[in-house]
Amino acid sequence: MASMRTLAIANQKGGVGKTTTAINLGTALAATGKRVVIFDADPQGNASTGIDISPDMRTVNAYHVLVGQAAIAGAVLPTKVPNLFLVPGDANLSGLETELMAVTRPQYRLRDAIAAHAHSTGQGDGFDYMLIDCPPSLNILTVNALTAADGVLVPLQCEFFALEGLKQLMDTIGAVKVNLNPTLEIQGVVLTMHDARTNLSDQVANDVRSVLGDKVYETIIPRNVRLSEAPSHGLPAIVYDQNASGSKAYIALAKELIERERTLMAA
Ligand code: ATP
Ligand code: MG
Repeated sequence: MASMRTLAIANQKGGVGKTTTAINLGTALAATGKRVVIFDADPQGNASTGIDISPDMRTVNAYHVLVGQAAIAGAVLPTKVPNLFLVPGDANLSGLETELMAVTRPQYRLRDAIAAHAHSTGQGDGFDYMLIDCPPSLNILTVNALTAADGVLVPLQCEFFALEGLKQLMDTIGAVKVNLNPTLEIQGVVLTMHDARTNLSDQVANDVRSVLGDKVYETIIPRNVRLSEAPSHGLPAIVYDQNASGSKAYIALAKELIERERTLMAA
């Protein structure tokens, strides 16, 4: 088994579809037989709630992994979806910035935890993918995710201000690459919440492609009410309604991602 690929799903802009992407891309990858773990690095814990891991099941969570009180294996939970696992996120993560000020190499906490996990599981019982659901901020949690990641997956909402703030994210990724994680790459950019009824969505999609070129995935995630309803049922949209346009789009994205990963690995 090849070693785990770690992808940070990051954009400091709020509400662009990071969590929806983590849950549904994770589910779609799991459905192809990949073993996937979502690492919920957001104190909001939306990814955890969205796959029905209630707060009382989060007693050992991402916080404990990041402060070194738990190993990944001790925090990971199964979900209702076969092959999909979760390291839950909880409100205690919000204090991490201050708490990690006292430790050396605070940016490497997740990277070290993943290395320890790889060591403990050897060649067999690991994961194929870790998807890190980042908070809407370029704080220590996101920096930990970028430092641990092989690649960054950036969801961009198809709206007028889509490209605004992207420079800040790219600068942060660049700084992490130079100082902390030289092999970090932008794995891809995913256009989300595309509204086929408006010209604006298409215009934004075209603009983004002209700036970011083939980093942008062909698959575009449409605005689809099933994607926003599903979390209230504690289910990934792909399980809640696999025929919904949003579900089909995430299944297509997973295929494209696997193909892109294959090309990257072969290079
Ligand atoms: P935050 O920055 O707060 O973590 P986020 O980037 O993780 O937000 P989501 O929580 O995935 O964004 O999405 C924001 C809201 O938009 C949620 O209510 C979600 O259900 C909804 N949503 C996400 N993607 C879509 C979509 N393609 N179509 C319709 N609704 C969507
Ligand atoms: Mg989120």
